[in-house]
Amino acid sequence: MTSQTLTTVLPYQDPALSIPERVADLLSRMTVEEKVGQMLQLDARDDLDDHVARRHAGSILHTSPERILRANELTAQTRLRIPLLVGEDCIHGHSFWPGATIYPTQLGMAASWDAELVERVARATAEEVAVTGIHWTFSPVLCIARDLRWGRIDETFGEDPFLIGELASAMVRGYQGDGLDDPTAILATAKHFAGYSETQGGRDASEADISRRKLRSWFLPPFERVAREGCRTFMLGYQTTDGVPITTNDWLLSDVLRGEWGYTGTLITDWDNVGRMVWEQKVQPDYAHAAAAAVKAGNDMIMTTPLFFEGALEAVAQGLLAEDAFDAAAARILTLKFELGLFENPRLPGSELDAVVGNAAHAELNLEVARRSIVLLENDGVLPLDAAAPLKVAVTGPLADDAQTQLGDWAGGSGQAGWLDGQPREMITTVLDGLQGVDGWTVAHTRGADILTLEDDPQGALFPDGQPRPSVVKPCAPDEALIAEAVAAASEADVVVAVVGDRIELVGEGRSTATLELIGGQNALLDALIATGKPVVIVLLASKPLVLPAPAAQAAAVIWAASPGMQGGRALAEIISGAVEPSGRLPISFARHVGQQPTYYNQIRGQHGDRYADLTQAPAWGFGEGRSYTTVEYSDLSLQQTSLTAADTIVGQVTVTNTGTRPVRETVQVYVRDSVTSVSWTDRELKTYRQVDLAPGESVVVRLELPVADCTIVDAAGFRIVEPGAFELLVGPSSREDVLLSAGFEVV
Ligand code: BGC
Repeated sequence: MTSQTLTTVLPYQDPALSIPERVADLLSRMTVEEKVGQMLQLDARDDLDDHVARRHAGSILHTSPERILRANELTAQTRLRIPLLVGEDCIHGHSFWPGATIYPTQLGMAASWDAELVERVARATAEEVAVTGIHWTFSPVLCIARDLRWGRIDETFGEDPFLIGELASAMVRGYQGDGLDDPTAILATAKHFAGYSETQGGRDASEADISRRKLRSWFLPPFERVAREGCRTFMLGYQTTDGVPITTNDWLLSDVLRGEWGYTGTLITDWDNVGRMVWEQKVQPDYAHAAAAAVKAGNDMIMTTPLFFEGALEAVAQGLLAEDAFDAAAARILTLKFELGLFENPRLPGSELDAVVGNAAHAELNLEVARRSIVLLENDGVLPLDAAAPLKVAVTGPLADDAQTQLGDWAGGSGQAGWLDGQPREMITTVLDGLQGVDGWTVAHTRGADILTLEDDPQGALFPDGQPRPSVVKPCAPDEALIAEAVAAASEADVVVAVVGDRIELVGEGRSTATLELIGGQNALLDALIATGKPVVIVLLASKPLVLPAPAAQAAAVIWAASPGMQGGRALAEIISGAVEPSGRLPISFARHVGQQPTYYNQIRGQHGDRYADLTQAPAWGFGEGRSYTTVEYSDLSLQQTSLTAADTIVGQVTVTNTGTRPVRETVQVYVRDSVTSVSWTDRELKTYRQVDLAPGESVVVRLELPVADCTIVDAAGFRIVEPGAFELLVGPSSREDVLLSAGFEVV
């Protein structure tokens, strides 16, 4: 197609017309090649000129600053001058933009249990993303954490469908703002629809062996919520279920998403899902058939399968698809472009960029969310340390001063983007930096251990589709000299802060782990430190729950910070020194041993016994747990009414008292137990929660409200219903049975 100069304003170029009118006009002018091209989202790191000029690509991803400008020059030379939609994985901040604000990972943010805070993070992220010329983020992740070995646990909001729904909904609101015509609004993506996290042995993108009832019970509810609330795009997972790739799962896409939920948004495949049906899953003979299947199943945007273009045209030639088969998808994509106002303003990186990206207000917000993301798991009273005393603190461990690792996956140094190898060091506060900033303390730093080295995969550097194969991790042996140095420093100190955990090579796609243990020399380091008899504070800087070695039970304190972002070190130092109270609560359970997988709290009732012969089944720390520097008591749980109909709201109250000497932000958790169900169900499920701030000695009566309509199960036929009968409302500081107060009620 040659470019031509458009002298008159065509109807689709006229902002005075309605968007449906503009879309209809534009579609009527497009060739079948141009329509197929609109469905392509291609990798901007490849041949951008070819993407735009020959394949008429509608969208690009993985754009560096320069490539966004180049792409715009290219579309300006095309016949119809259709702007590109620019997408990127801005998962916890504007991940791959040099100098952008990188927040804690989703799992870290989830520990705040604070939807309003998460919404503010997404809003601030959208501001940074939008000003750099990107219109679409592939976030949030609504996958439910199951097997902790999975490399993408850090990207989730944890293991509870209700909490995931609350936080995902907040994040979508934050990204999409007040409407797409707001120049700071970006498209959100609910991913990976659906069941992707139900891995086998934690292995990434393996077959998800999952029934429709199970999907409806736990996996779909968060997606349903954001679909109904207007999340503009959905990304389809990699896996197959019951033999069918999600990309062509008619039941999930047509019956459930488009049908039952009435979803009118845009669907995007995951990376090369269409190609994978040919070369990996081998369920389509060639690209023509794969493209036809993907189009018929209702996919709109095809991510990084360049041969979809040729395949789709071939499918038309072979009669597998009609010429108008692409109209619906192209119309949806064009509608997004008109709604974003891209025909009038392609939203190129603007002059205000420097003032917005990585600004001071966002750093302040980042510090707030980092503080709230940290969970105190154990404390024998050593914490908080006395900030006023002239303490000698031995800071050790391979992660004490590892700035890029602290940012986690989908960040500057995590490897998905080739154009930067990290975020500016000066924007990041490590734990060492943070502790060195406490006035009056003397800090001695040693490394203590190494974690891993890398070897090339013996199968070669690339997968068949040309994607890089992750290197093979070789754990380092304990280094006696490093340990001796750390032990010597510990012996001189009043207290030891040992910062251990995982590294990016153990996190992410295709990087699931077989074990959950600290690898390399880290366990030996902890053993040696604990043997010194000095109080040891373990800071577990880990993307996901890991298993600590047995001697760690004698640690004076254990803190978990899940990839806490740029301000993580400062937030940790503030908590350790008592400037800030710990308030994070676990959004996910910690195993004692990898063999306990899965460890999520809301498992189905019914098994023989309740333990392994050689180990308890109880997690090391369960969902909802987290300590404060004070003590809190729950009492006097009561309900206004104990006989209710499905249309009523349960109204109750509980007294929560700060019985200690320090302030607290307490997360009052409300679970429901359905005493007898027609089909097997979980023993208790989180249904709502409230966060309350209490001064020392203060007591509040917390009002609890919960619609009976939320006390559902999914019955044998797959319907979500409230079954009449006896229930219990369980209220307390975590999901653990022994800390929950119970009040019975009856649904009639
Ligand atoms: C991941 C997605 C991501 C996409 C684009 C895929 O491999 O599964 O989560 O959005 O790549 O980078």
